[in-house]
Amino acid sequence: MLLSIKRLAKSFDDLEVLKDINMDIEKGTVVTIMGPSGSGKTTLLRCLNALEEPTNGVFSFDDGFTLDFQHKINKNDLLTLRRKSGMVFQSYNLFPHKTAIENVTEGPIIVQRRSKEEVYEQANNLLKKVGLEDKKDLYPHQLSGGQQQRVGIARALAIEPDLLLFDEPTSALDPELVGDVLSVIKDLANEGWTIVIVTHEVQFAQQVSDQVIFMDGGYIVEQGPPEKVLQNPSENRTQQFLQRIL
Ligand code: ADP
Repeated sequence: MLLSIKRLAKSFDDLEVLKDINMDIEKGTVVTIMGPSGSGKTTLLRCLNALEEPTNGVFSFDDGFTLDFQHKINKNDLLTLRRKSGMVFQSYNLFPHKTAIENVTEGPIIVQRRSKEEVYEQANNLLKKVGLEDKKDLYPHQLSGGQQQRVGIARALAIEPDLLLFDEPTSALDPELVGDVLSVIKDLANEGWTIVIVTHEVQFAQQVSDQVIFMDGGYIVEQGPPEKVLQNPSENRTQQFLQRIL
């Protein structure tokens, strides 16, 4: 088990957004999170990446690193948590004044303080992997949405995280660009990356997920293999949601 999450809760002031979330993420598997808008999916990913601090709960990693949010967490531990995962955002979040390759090298050079030479070599390889070797010196505004998102994926890979997090990575894209990005993510899944992805792409979820989690109102309503949750859901709320989006 790469990461075990117990009793995760998150509130914004009086609003309880995540309630008693329990989930296990096995190394080398793909966990897909689905559910209606406002159900807490993005907040869950942001808690995993320490962009939000949980109100309660325990994260236990397979290397022995454990965080109990019942107690105040120190900055170093939050940084350790942040560096365990690479996040790919719905709206790409690239630095607009940096080229594609500079976006990829920024984290490893500035945050991880690795050598420029090694980092640039790796970034070239990563941009090749996502099919952008000829675009590496272009700025985000010179790239299509699909290309920007592939830079975002290369950037997340560059920090060599244990866990890749994708927050609706294709929902801002024109329909004809969705396939390229999904196929990069499929390749990563086949290479054995551990992936948590929020998506409404049911067919994709069916093909790549080991585990599907259906959320509603801050709770996990149902979780299990895609054959179960997507094809034969036992909960009404899951059935209704799937009927709406299919
Ligand atoms: P989803 O990703 O499933 O659409 P979100 O995690 O984005 O859901 O949001 C869940 C709920 O939390 C929503 O009601 C949203 O308004 C609220 N929320 C998210 N972020 C914040 C924030 N920073 N401050 C206050 N409320 C927030």
